[in-house]
Amino acid sequence: MQPFAAPAEGIISLPGSKSQTNRALLCAALSEGTSRLSGVLYAEDTEAMLEAIVSFGAVVEEDRQNFEIEVTGIAGAPVFQELAINARQSGTTSRFLLPTLAAGNGRVTLDGDQELRARPFSEQIDALRDLGCEIEELDKRGGLPVVVSARGVERSEVEIAAATSSQFVSGLLLAAPLYSNGLKINLTSPAISRPYIELTVEVMRDFGVLVEQPDDSTYVVNPGHYRAAEVHIEPDASAASYFFAAAAITHGRVRITGLHSESRQGDIRFVDVLEQLGAKVVWGENYIEVEGDRIRGGTFDLRDFSDTTQTLAALAAFAENDIEITGVGFIRRKETDRIAAMRTELTKCGVEVKESEDGLIVRPNLWSLKGARVDTYNDHRMAMSMALLSLRIPRIEINDHECVNKTFPDFFSRLEELRPKAKSRENTVAVAAIDGPAGSGKSTVARLLATELKLPHFDTGAMYRAVAVAALRAEIDPDDQDATAELAEQTKIAIGDRTFIDEVDATDEIRTPEVDQLVSVVAANPKVRRVLVAQQRKWATELGGGVMEGRDIGTKVFPDAIFKAFLTAQPEVRARRRYGQSSIQTLGDVAEDIERRDQIDSTRSDSPLQVAPGAVVIDTSDLTVEQVVSELANMFRSVVED
Ligand code: C5P
Repeated sequence: MQPFAAPAEGIISLPGSKSQTNRALLCAALSEGTSRLSGVLYAEDTEAMLEAIVSFGAVVEEDRQNFEIEVTGIAGAPVFQELAINARQSGTTSRFLLPTLAAGNGRVTLDGDQELRARPFSEQIDALRDLGCEIEELDKRGGLPVVVSARGVERSEVEIAAATSSQFVSGLLLAAPLYSNGLKINLTSPAISRPYIELTVEVMRDFGVLVEQPDDSTYVVNPGHYRAAEVHIEPDASAASYFFAAAAITHGRVRITGLHSESRQGDIRFVDVLEQLGAKVVWGENYIEVEGDRIRGGTFDLRDFSDTTQTLAALAAFAENDIEITGVGFIRRKETDRIAAMRTELTKCGVEVKESEDGLIVRPNLWSLKGARVDTYNDHRMAMSMALLSLRIPRIEINDHECVNKTFPDFFSRLEELRPKAKSRENTVAVAAIDGPAGSGKSTVARLLATELKLPHFDTGAMYRAVAVAALRAEIDPDDQDATAELAEQTKIAIGDRTFIDEVDATDEIRTPEVDQLVSVVAANPKVRRVLVAQQRKWATELGGGVMEGRDIGTKVFPDAIFKAFLTAQPEVRARRRYGQSSIQTLGDVAEDIERRDQIDSTRSDSPLQVAPGAVVIDTSDLTVEQVVSELANMFRSVVED
């Protein structure tokens, strides 16, 4: 994956909701007459459903190009002799079909891929047995494959726990009108992912079947018939979460058409989470637009929209504070143990994650982010969420990325649509802002990058060092802020290949240990900063841009820089690099000095050293200078026309 060198930008339409498509396909298949569905999702999970409904007699006419489909239903419960249905990896297909098949007549085997075989079915199987159905597990108790010897369902009341999957309840609801006496479902525990049950109720209503809800834990469906309908499927809100998160992560702006605040999908609430974290959201009549701003931190209960857990966990890698996700213990039994998988993969990328019983806590530390080869566990949501890290971290590689085919075959090309286009050099102050702590490789890299890009180079650290030298020479107490600032104003500093103080070469003098000691104190003085930042802005603007390195270029000096990078390296590596440049200090002294400066620089109240919003973070620990320079040059060129 290649990072975005500038904010994500774009208006996109997304494929239809998997959840709504699979519900509508089943209702249409059981209806009398021909239904027309538009905005349909064509992906593995919906192919599984399509194949199944065709196998028991529905007739479908696909128009894949226009995302439409016509389904002529079988007008009631399916009748078959000997049927075998492969739900592949699809939880919805299998859990929606099982109660429907039980309502029919004949013998049917329901099976799926290995991943689906590993997922739980016992609550639904038990409920169906309570209703008098004959179901035999061929492999292990409570799992696929199963053989159903169907001969209709007469009993009309059942209890079920919906703590593992709301799909158990949705499946029973969808089948209920086919049962001779209808069905009353009593939930024995509060349902997870409740919005999905509501979606089921609404899709059933689209096809003419009403579900009564006398109280929070009871659903009643009378025996009845589905009627063919014309239904437009909404864009998939879970899929949308990745694109909204991309806007937040890259400080960009992304609009998704066809979604709105009245969406039937619970996962739309992910947008509220982004808003609470600090993103700006526009809720249009027929679109939602997210503009990245801050990513603060906080605790979020995602019980009702747990499919966005991985999106939020990935986003959290870039947050200002911890993000805790609660209420989602049950996602350990989805395509994979999503909590453990997310911890393992985020950890590879330098993100600290702690698992809890019902979720996880991400403790972001942007200084330690690094590229890695990540595994996806055959879980589409692992691939799509980990791709978000690649927007700002180079060298993220995603293993077996085709697992996105389950719900979103086009995911990677759609993400590419948001990649920023190159801007013309004309009328642009083409600043490449390179920030980072001491020893991150910043100075060497920035100098070579400037040469490579034929742009001026500004070493702003040299300016703060020059003021420190002037203060030492003038014997000014650095704690005297006014006096130091006045000195900064009066001192004529010139930076370039060499540094001059009042026209005298001070290139070596600004790098002595005494200056190392003093410079962070001088730089923490807001009045000194005001003087130097004004000069930095003036120089770069006059020259039409340049490679500017420092601590606050992306956050303060040029927050709108066309390209922003933050270089880091592991603390030991940084110490070793600086040690190599000094002949008088021990490695221990250098490490201590770096740590002390990091501390002062990153905690000072004025312009602390932080990763700028949207900046690409590059861990240079294992890279050569040439590699870093070429990576940065490529990114810069991708956003600035030559
Ligand atoms: O980059 P260098 O190590 O030469 O910077 C020396 C010091 O100058 C930093 O530790 C920091 O305190 C200060 N500095 C700053 N803002 C910048 C550049 C450097 O505060 N833009």
